Amino acid sequence: MSSRPPEVGAGAGAWPTPRPDLGLQEGYHSAQVPVAVRLNTNESPYPPPREWLEALMAEASDMSFNRYPDRSARALRLALGELHGVPMESVFAANGSNEVLQCLCLGYGGPGRRALMFEPTYALHAHIAHLTGTEVVRVRRDEGFRLGPREAAEAVRRESPSIVFLCSPNNPTGLSESRATVQAVLDAAEGALVVVDEAYGQFAPWSALEVLSDALPLVVVRTYSKTWAMAGLRLGYMVGPPAVVQVMERVALPYHLDSLKQAAGRLALRFSSQMEEHVAAIVAERERLVEALRGMPVEVWPSDANFVLWRPLAKPGAQVWQELVERSVLVRDMSTLPGMEGYLRTTVGAPGENGTFLAALAQVLA
Ligand SMILES: *Cc1c(COP(=O)(O)O)cnc(C)c1O
Repeated sequence: MSSRPPEVGAGAGAWPTPRPDLGLQEGYHSAQVPVAVRLNTNESPYPPPREWLEALMAEASDMSFNRYPDRSARALRLALGELHGVPMESVFAANGSNEVLQCLCLGYGGPGRRALMFEPTYALHAHIAHLTGTEVVRVRRDEGFRLGPREAAEAVRRESPSIVFLCSPNNPTGLSESRATVQAVLDAAEGALVVVDEAYGQFAPWSALEVLSDALPLVVVRTYSKTWAMAGLRLGYMVGPPAVVQVMERVALPYHLDSLKQAAGRLALRFSSQMEEHVAAIVAERERLVEALRGMPVEVWPSDANFVLWRPLAKPGAQVWQELVERSVLVRDMSTLPGMEGYLRTTVGAPGENGTFLAALAQVLA
């Protein structure tokens, strides 16, 4: 990363340099190309319900925008607590689950501490840990991208992390961690906080929410960005022991959640049956996609999420990606992740979008 000096009339002295270690980080980008069918960022293909927007506008018209929002977001946390059968003291919300992850790193990581993660996984776990000065320790999954309980526990004992990140279902592989693996990590985690990122939790057969207890150093992170079809809202939350929530309240900026967002997130929960219908539709489409891909010259992974990981066998992944773009279909090229050379990831879209993708891919691979 190069710092740019001012052009004319500059005063004396050097231009301020950013932290030198930022040069190591590529940042986090998904190529945004103008195409007709965007299946690259795992958003919902369906907009949130119209009634939700109407309820939100009605509440917004009564809001006192000259006043700061409720700093502890009580109503939102209460509603999320009801959804999961826990008290509001067990819930912390922030601007996207990425900010929840950042708060977890600020609270439990930092200089002299380590965060352990199992790759390939969500690139932002390493990125956010690094930005907070936490040392990143990466352990590779096995050839099939699985993580067995014994290997996971061994890594935790060997590396003595302060934070262990698991992602279930894992992005970008689509595979869930087994209950045995989560349990083994917890058993081995002497003094470490175990974070299970469940951004795709509603698509999966089981949830680490079932394991939560105030006596266990386990938190589960969820988001409104995927199943709730509200990526534009930037809202995420964690459920975990109140002792962890109290730490989050110390590291979050004051009034970090604005009034409108608090209301939006609370009102969204009234429409959970619509959300569940969409989840069922997406799961059905996912199975159709996997079936169709199995009939093509590609390797396909089973998925518990709203995306499918695959790898063309007869052509380089980057070329297939490009030829899909030329047919106005955008998928995610996962090549920048370790061990993922040639892999592509397709978000499950609406039926028409999936059909367009499959037809384009059949042409590209013909
Ligand atoms: C998409 C995604 C998120 C979502 O982040 P937000 O900040 O809530 O939009 C979090 N974790 C994983 C693994 C994801 O894939």
